[in-house]
Amino acid sequence: MGESANPTRKIIALAVAGARAAEPATRDALSAVKLAERVYDTRTRALHDLRISVTDRCNFRCTYCMPKDVFGPGYKFLPHDALLSFEEITRFARISAQLGVEKIRLTGGEPTLRRDLPRLIEMLDALKTPSGHALDLTLTTNGSTLVKQARALKDAGLQRITVSLDSLDDATFKSMNDVDFPVADVLKGIEAAHAVGLAPIKVNMVVKRGVNDQSIVDMAKHFKGTGVVVRYIEFMDVGATNGWRMDDVVPSAEVVRAISTWSPLEAIDAQYEGEVAERWRYKDGGGEIGVISSVTQAFCKTCTRARLSTDGKIFTCLFATDGTDFRQMMRNGASDDDIAALLVGLWQSRTDRYSEIRTAATTLERQARKVEMSYIGG
Ligand code: SAM
Ligand code: SF4
Ligand code: SF4
Repeated sequence: MGESANPTRKIIALAVAGARAAEPATRDALSAVKLAERVYDTRTRALHDLRISVTDRCNFRCTYCMPKDVFGPGYKFLPHDALLSFEEITRFARISAQLGVEKIRLTGGEPTLRRDLPRLIEMLDALKTPSGHALDLTLTTNGSTLVKQARALKDAGLQRITVSLDSLDDATFKSMNDVDFPVADVLKGIEAAHAVGLAPIKVNMVVKRGVNDQSIVDMAKHFKGTGVVVRYIEFMDVGATNGWRMDDVVPSAEVVRAISTWSPLEAIDAQYEGEVAERWRYKDGGGEIGVISSVTQAFCKTCTRARLSTDGKIFTCLFATDGTDFRQMMRNGASDDDIAALLVGLWQSRTDRYSEIRTAATTLERQARKVEMSYIGG
């Protein structure tokens, strides 16, 4: 039998060494998935979201993400030809959309450092779901370039945006970003995003005990009534370099209690199945906040996210140690069906639930091997 007559063998040959072993779906299984417009993993979680890391570089050195002692001048970032091109990213996103992906988040590293990012947004904005809807397209950024870029991003088709900001106190923020970047410049970036109509705007604050927990209520006060939704994220043990300890985590329940003491909150329903943030509304109508309890209340049961790394590997969990290489496959001339079959097979064999089974032992066991968030995208 020739190679082209055996698609399974061909696909396996195309997946490069080091890729996680996944049986590609057969042609029949692939057709069934395409008809259903959904692919489910072993825990009946549908593939629904794709996070795309467009660069592994960043102009910040947040101590919990890219600590300077690891990501210093000697650190070897990916060379340009290792990065997926915009055409490759768009092709992968288009195939994913045919398999049920409806939401795309661009991230990194710092995604706005990728040259010509608005062109990629334009390309992704042109994609459609099988039922003809546009994809929900968003971006997570540290906000440092928004004054310059917000207009171009919006004009290219970006709908909304998430800006990370860990404190309103300059000394605290600078000590966390570790490059002396001032709070005022991120706030200007948020204003610029608002002015061009990127909405809703969300602000991500990673809370670390003893570092910025004193800023929790200040942040709520600053954004209450503005329409900006602050989301408090529990510090996670992602990657192998951030020296995570459970003692550093401020449980979301504590965050909600602190804000509620200042201005009472009530819980509200998720907007959609699989929403990561738990939503709380000010009882006096001042808007809402969100908490992301990745550590204290794992949400693996509804985790529908795949992550595409800067160099084209798919990771089915933020805490994974290996990814499956699609870049080499694309560069070796694989057809759309070959790529879809491998993605379907990978997703159908997915068992990930790291946060549900996290213990001191699993944390330690994986600590040295987990990939960095700046590479697979937060
Ligand atoms: N550079 C962009 C930014 O900071 O928004 C996008 C990439 S960053 C990896 C995405 C998000 O992950 C940010 O909101 C960041 O605060 C969050 N993050 C990074 N490391 C984290 C950790 N150890 N625990 C929780 N969140 C983390
Ligand atoms: Fe850069 Fe974002 Fe990581 Fe901070 S959290 S170092 S801004 S990628
Ligand atoms: Fe999803 Fe993995 Fe996080 Fe669980 S630990 S919510 S499976 S990314």
